[in-house]
Amino acid sequence: MTPSPLELYIHIPFCIRKCQYCDFLSMPAQEPIRTRYLAALLQEIQEKSRPLQGYQVISVFLGGGTPSILPGAQTAQILETVRRSFPLAPDAEITIECNPGTLDWQKLLQYKAAGINRLSIGLQSAHNEELRLLGRIHTYEEFLVGYDLARKAGFENINIDLMSALPGQRVRDWMDTLECVIKLRPEHVSAYSLMIEEGTPFFALYGEDEQRRERGDSPRFLPDEESERKMYVMACRMLGEKGYRRYEISNYARPGRECRHNLGYWRRISYLGLGLGSASLLNGIRFSNTEILKDYLEGNYGDLGALLQGGHGGYPIRSILWLDKKQQMEEFMFLGLRMAEGISREEFRENFGIELEGIYGAAIKGLVRQGLLAQQCGRVFLTEEGISVSNYVMGQFLLGDSW
Ligand code: SF4
Repeated sequence: MTPSPLELYIHIPFCIRKCQYCDFLSMPAQEPIRTRYLAALLQEIQEKSRPLQGYQVISVFLGGGTPSILPGAQTAQILETVRRSFPLAPDAEITIECNPGTLDWQKLLQYKAAGINRLSIGLQSAHNEELRLLGRIHTYEEFLVGYDLARKAGFENINIDLMSALPGQRVRDWMDTLECVIKLRPEHVSAYSLMIEEGTPFFALYGEDEQRRERGDSPRFLPDEESERKMYVMACRMLGEKGYRRYEISNYARPGRECRHNLGYWRRISYLGLGLGSASLLNGIRFSNTEILKDYLEGNYGDLGALLQGGHGGYPIRSILWLDKKQQMEEFMFLGLRMAEGISREEFRENFGIELEGIYGAAIKGLVRQGLLAQQCGRVFLTEEGISVSNYVMGQFLLGDSW
């Protein structure tokens, strides 16, 4: 029997210090805590692999936090445990997120030897004033050193993360960052707009400003809506001219270099999250590990076998969602429409035993009439106009209580 594909996400929740805008589950921690975390993580990988032997792992993503904060030998230990516990596809994509301030030659060689074949480097901006404002731990020059070392160490698949719509940022500053990055010829670029998240220092500074922008008033520090839109368009144009295809709303890749792991999320392939607070989707259940570090270190990361057999397996009960057919159809649309290729009518029929038109015929017709969706060769996808109001478009695929 062909094994089912599975993706692994492994969360390393530690950072040197917290960035000003960050609301990810991440924190600074001393070495003894990190060592205890590693022990719990290795144990969790082994335990949770047991009920999943019918799967084959097609991608591993070490995310954070700052996974590159760990010594290279510890990263190798994690991947060694993954290999011993799960059947790993020979061509599996294995990515690690790296913070430029934490990379060195030795570590990169250890990554290579451990089978890591993709780096995702968080740059965010090529302007040191912007990096300082964001609270990043590195300068642009330090990033360049890390990037150069990564190429010399033989990494041929590198993503660079960028962030636009920063306080005080002008369209030409953003274009300058894009130009710097394009010159480096990475295989992949992720370009997201800054989100002002509640509970972060940026929320205290710019939360009100964001509300002004949402009300249609001029913001004082953040770029206005029109500039933000221009930044998005410039990213598409400048990257597109250099051979990067926008394959998802905020992700661009050279041909064949799309992130397989992320494509899996949007296509709703099963994935298992390992580590503090990490999320999973398996057998139509969405669930997450505890976010409390003390609990995690004590081994309270849930019993996957018990969960898959219908219990809650000690996972935080509020984190478990048994998706019904309606929710699965909604997710199929929300996630699938993020991709440039959109969704396939045939896959919808195969997944749900019903024609797409039977459920979403009216919504699709209305959105096509407004120029927000297009259809071609059995697929439905967002138009340029649809991308700029994607939240509105996705909202049209909620099925409501009466369904
Ligand atoms: S490096 Fe990433 S995860 Fe860590 S604090 Fe900064 S934004 Fe958050």
